[in-house]
Amino acid sequence: MKASDATTYFFNKAADQLCLADWIRKLLVTSRRELAVQVIVEMDDGRVETFLGYRVQHDNARGPMKGGLRYHLDVSLDEVRSLASLMTWKTAVVDIPYGGAKGGVAVDPTRLSRRELERLTRAFVDGIHDVIGPDTDIPAPDMGTTHEVMSWIRNQWEKYHGFNPAVVTGKPVEEYGAKGREEATGRGVGILAIKLLKRMGVKVEGCRTAIQGFGNVGSHAAKFLSEATFPIVAISDISGCYYNPKGLDMKSVLKHSLEHKSLAGYKQAELLPVDDLLTLDVDLLIPAALGGVINDENVDKVKARTIIEAANSPILPKAHESLAERGVTVLPDILANAGGVTVSYFEWVQNRQHYRWSLDRVRQELDSTLSQAFEQVWQQSLQSKVDLRTAAFMLGISRVHRATELAGIG
Ligand code: NAD
Repeated sequence: MKASDATTYFFNKAADQLCLADWIRKLLVTSRRELAVQVIVEMDDGRVETFLGYRVQHDNARGPMKGGLRYHLDVSLDEVRSLASLMTWKTAVVDIPYGGAKGGVAVDPTRLSRRELERLTRAFVDGIHDVIGPDTDIPAPDMGTTHEVMSWIRNQWEKYHGFNPAVVTGKPVEEYGAKGREEATGRGVGILAIKLLKRMGVKVEGCRTAIQGFGNVGSHAAKFLSEATFPIVAISDISGCYYNPKGLDMKSVLKHSLEHKSLAGYKQAELLPVDDLLTLDVDLLIPAALGGVINDENVDKVKARTIIEAANSPILPKAHESLAERGVTVLPDILANAGGVTVSYFEWVQNRQHYRWSLDRVRQELDSTLSQAFEQVWQQSLQSKVDLRTAAFMLGISRVHRATELAGIG
């Protein structure tokens, strides 16, 4: 199944509940603009390589479009289209004044030197600079991109358009970034995990948790949750799954991952095949890596009773239905990982006001934004007797629909 078909499936399910008219359905499943560009890079050894880059702008009814930039070999126009649409629903669910966009380059960033990565980023910005900007479309980090990449984007864009750091978020703190942005997505996952379990009447102390992916999102979620006394029994990255049924010592895991830039070689755990993490006997499962990892093939083996989608689109539609039938509670991506875009919004606000917030203020405002969104999704789910994903889509779609109608067509 194509990534965009999966997103459209969830969209339609919620649109049916809302009895959404055909004209607005068609408008909302179609992107405003889809741009594909050649990214030509001179490599360190003098060879010239050509990559494909994309920026999809899905909807701007509620404000400038906003969405991350992914560097990964699997990046395709269809995947970016699907992720851009998810951004529209995500920004609407947490009620920040943005629309949705996404971008990416089909490249394995780990095979490029730092200078090659910088040249690739600058060449990509050369291709898209006209369609992004602080009032139109604001990129941010996603898989494979870092705060350093965001700095290069800003610098390259400003060569064409002049000083305006609000063109991109997720920048280094000393280069107009926001305190708390780097931890925000993982911290948000943690905040929402506690809220969800509380609502479900489950104690966090004994909640055995497994986290797939130990990059920006997975590592910060693990840190936050272990500090909140969740026993983290398994984590994984591309090098394998690290398991300790008694709970991993997160301080030593974080130290190892900081020193080695990978979990490879971590000895205080049993090493299992990488995909075993998804089917371990745990209470809470947090996919925080790739899309489509819970699918027809493994869904029957998933034992967790609660899943929090820290990654985008980790559960495919059929697997979603099968989990719902079994009574597994899933907190959907468009709410679960919205902490990142929320603090990106705070960064943009600070850039525009030439003012800096303290880390405490960022954390407090993040907590309050996510708490409000969580309660609204929870109430929608009770009221409409639908799962949390359908409830979140219903909330997001209603807000975008209303903004579209208020602005008028034509
Ligand atoms: P990242 O590049 O920092 O980390 C990705 C991690 O996944 C790495 O540890 C990598 O080794 C691991 N990984 C890759 N393939 C794997 C596999 N097959 N099994 C296990 N681990 C694997 O990326 P990130 O920024 O942490 O993003 C992770 C997910 O969260 C993505 O789906 C992204 O779209 C989503 N997300 C990120 C942000 C953000 O602020 N960074 C915001 C919202 C959503």
